[in-house]
Amino acid sequence: MKSAPRPRLVVVGNGMAGMRAVEELLQLAPELYDITVFGEEPHGNYNRILLSPLLAGEKSVADIMLNPREWYARNGITLHAGDPVVAIDRARRTVRSQGGSEAGYDRLLIATGSRPFIPPVPGCDLPGVIAFRDIQHVEAMLEAARRHRHAVVIGGGLLGLEAANGLLRQGMEVTVVHLHHSLMERQLDAPASALLQQALESTGLRFVLGAQTAELIGTERVTAVRFKDGATLPADLVVMAAGVRPNIELARAAGLYCERAIVVDDTLQTYDPRIYAVGECVQHRRSTFGLVAPIWDQARVCAAHLAGAGHRRYVQQATATKLKVTGVDLYSAGCIYGGPGTEDIVLRDPRRGVYKRLVLQGERIVGAVLYGDVADGPWYFDLIQRQTPVAAMRQRLLFGRALCEAA
Ligand SMILES: Cc1cc2nc3c(=O)[nH]c(=O)nc-3n(C[C@H](O)[C@H](O)[C@H](O)COP(=O)(O)OP(=O)(O)OC[C@H]3O[C@@H](n4cnc5c(N)ncnc54)[C@H](O)[C@@H]3O)c2cc1C
Repeated sequence: MKSAPRPRLVVVGNGMAGMRAVEELLQLAPELYDITVFGEEPHGNYNRILLSPLLAGEKSVADIMLNPREWYARNGITLHAGDPVVAIDRARRTVRSQGGSEAGYDRLLIATGSRPFIPPVPGCDLPGVIAFRDIQHVEAMLEAARRHRHAVVIGGGLLGLEAANGLLRQGMEVTVVHLHHSLMERQLDAPASALLQQALESTGLRFVLGAQTAELIGTERVTAVRFKDGATLPADLVVMAAGVRPNIELARAAGLYCERAIVVDDTLQTYDPRIYAVGECVQHRRSTFGLVAPIWDQARVCAAHLAGAGHRRYVQQATATKLKVTGVDLYSAGCIYGGPGTEDIVLRDPRRGVYKRLVLQGERIVGAVLYGDVADGPWYFDLIQRQTPVAAMRQRLLFGRALCEAA
């Protein structure tokens, strides 16, 4: 006897969020769906976080693969790699790809991530100007590093600093240009940011802070960056690391409700009950996302609902950040700027290059910035997430877990 056809799940986006949701789903209900995945990139699924060590020459493309093509075949998943979806027809419940494939769905999962934001300055489309989001960008940067000398990275956040470090490791002369006066200002306070800048300068990186790019100069290829004040910097490669924007054009064109991103409820369902969305393309209770920890939680909840075991709800948690630059130890978690009703406790040891600041609200830690000695970062993060009362160990808190627990 022929078995009944399985319901069809189509996934748009073969990145970290979409494939994590599929992995979770396969654990819960391996046989439930007939799964088809469309990915714009011509690869299996890889760990985007590790593009930084790939650029720095510390890892190879093979090292960063999470699920090679065989994984899809082994799990009975049809993969259309290098063939983006260009239209969703919600009435007919089908998607259409650029290559002309059409796939019908019973459930659709949108996981299209973000696109790099390229500041629209004159010259931003010149050859030699690239973003830092995928394997192709890294390959273009490595090629530029072999042929050229001067790199300028626009953006002094996590991504920009990791790009700059990678290009420096590839032998380029690198200057980071940042609009703000301190690096990673969203994760670090001014003292930690100053220590970071010193450490990076000692590796050979240069910085131009508080600078606004007015124009990229060049004809055949970029040759220089000009700032608002008229100063210029030579540049044969310009890496734009000035933020990302949720990739929602496809969802919006299909009439799904979007604000800054695709709006989802606590089950990761969009306004169309057949369509779910996860990752950097979603907006949940006014927030959008740029780190993998919350995205793993979303994937788990979404998979449970797709599997029909849907009692879970997605709850936003504090996040923590590290910089993947060898030799630089920093850790930032929670709300580091404090506000009314918060107090800071601070430890500085300039000789050891150590700085620690905890932000307390009443009896609880709400934020932590650590530089130079980050061993206790995950412990502070755990205290933040669990909202553990810390009054009894307040005097010893900055000296770390071992001392607090011994006492
Ligand atoms: C260099 C770098 C370093 C990072 N380091 C860290 C870190 O240290 N810690 C951390 O937590 N996070 C880090 N991140 C962020 C993290 O990688 C992202 O938060 C995560 O990848 C988001 O997952 P996503 O699936 O939403 O998006 P993505 O991983 O970008 O996946 C989206 C996929 O959808 C595809 N797509 C888009 N449109 C279509 C379409 N129409 N049809 C088919 N496919 C489509 C895209 O090509 C892409 O492959 C880093 C990011 C970068 C770029």
